[in-house]
Amino acid sequence: MNSFTKKDIMVDENLSKILDVPPGSYVSFADVTRKVYNYIKVNNLVRRVEEEGLEKEGWKFCFRCGARLPSKAKFCDRCGTAQ
Ligand SMILES: [Zn+2]
Repeated sequence: MNSFTKKDIMVDENLSKILDVPPGSYVSFADVTRKVYNYIKVNNLVRRVEEEGLEKEGWKFCFRCGARLPSKAKFCDRCGTAQ
């Protein structure tokens, strides 16, 4: 990796899912960082203090959109689908 912005990281199947770009395309480290950050934000993956009590009860994932939800959630926070 010569520079932060040079597009010389090849996207494989796993990266493709997270970065939302086709496998085989090339992205820069800056692109990866930005998109992973966005992925974390959109999917609400950052632990929040008020959620720590939920760790014991566990999590599930929305069967429609895949958002992470508390295991007792009746509706998805992101897409509103009943669980
Ligand atoms: Zn959902």
